[in-house]
Amino acid sequence: MTEFELIRRYFDRMPSRRVDLGIGDDCALLRPRCQGAMAGPASPRASAGRQRNAGFAVSTDMLVAGRHFFEDVQPGALGHKTLAVSLSDLAAMGARPRAFTLALALPEVDESWLEAFARGMFELADRYDCELIGGDTTRGPLNLCVTVFGDCDVETVLRRDRAEPGDDVWVSGPLGLAAYAVRERLAGRRLPDDHPAVAALDRPTPRVELGLLLRHWASSAIDVSDGLIGDLGHVAERSRVGIDIEWARVPVPTALRDLPATELRALVLGGGDDYELAFTSATVNRSAIEALGGQVGLSLARVGSVRSGSGVTILDAKHQVLDDAIRAFDHFA
Ligand code: ADP
Ligand code: MG
Repeated sequence: MTEFELIRRYFDRMPSRRVDLGIGDDCALLRPRCQGAMAGPASPRASAGRQRNAGFAVSTDMLVAGRHFFEDVQPGALGHKTLAVSLSDLAAMGARPRAFTLALALPEVDESWLEAFARGMFELADRYDCELIGGDTTRGPLNLCVTVFGDCDVETVLRRDRAEPGDDVWVSGPLGLAAYAVRERLAGRRLPDDHPAVAALDRPTPRVELGLLLRHWASSAIDVSDGLIGDLGHVAERSRVGIDIEWARVPVPTALRDLPATELRALVLGGGDDYELAFTSATVNRSAIEALGGQVGLSLARVGSVRSGSGVTILDAKHQVLDDAIRAFDHFA
């Protein structure tokens, strides 16, 4: 059983009207039920519609030692990453970070470790004005779990299920560096500390600003946490469309350019943990999207297109299907 079959079979129940969006996207969406709770005392009529759509995007992510990170990772980097992966889910929805909770299991009290961990986490939290509002602490195998809350307009958020045939597919940056760092480490090769793959794995930058800007332009979005093919597969499935990726257009990290082609494709298309955004947008928006990239200092790459049908297909320069059998990361497959 795959990770997603498991979730579907045991946890994903009939959607209710109690929430605006439940299981299956990067975040769930909730509006307060009590109308009065969001409206100010004398809120002008013009803002009433906006107030009605004001809600929270909520996401939980767990990092387990030996599975999501190497046990000897620098604690500052781990603190950063623990929050970054959750902020990335907010980015994928175009939600604005507001607050988070932190649940920790620690094998022992190591003061210098905790100090560095907290510093790494709060540096990122402060950058996005995201406040730690609670959590839980216990003894146990090292395990970190964050639930993040972001403000959003539940009608204009970026979801996985709104891609349309004909849309372009974009990614926010080169992919595969984090997976390369993991691969080298598992093979017993140590990359120099200043290798770009080390920073990509240890200190990913959640694309929060980009996500906020894309609300007005993208038809769908997801963050690339399990590999581009797998994550776009979620977009395709939920939007009931197919997606074609042109391999020649996918941005490849300079540091990986010399790898053999099939290895490179496996890392770039199948490697997780990059936390770039993948999104779709109508073709009329091309120049606007390029301009957005300039605004946030990212070179956004147009890598393919949405079609009717299903599944994600990789095409070579001659538009022939490249069948590498690349698979996304799955905890149980
Ligand atoms: P992401 O990679 O964006 O964090 P995941 O791939 O981990 O999302 O999860 C896919 C979807 O399944 C998400 O909507 C997530 O909230 C949901 N999900 C994962 N595990 C569970 C669970 N145990 N119970 C309910 N929902 C879950
Ligand atoms: Mg996600």
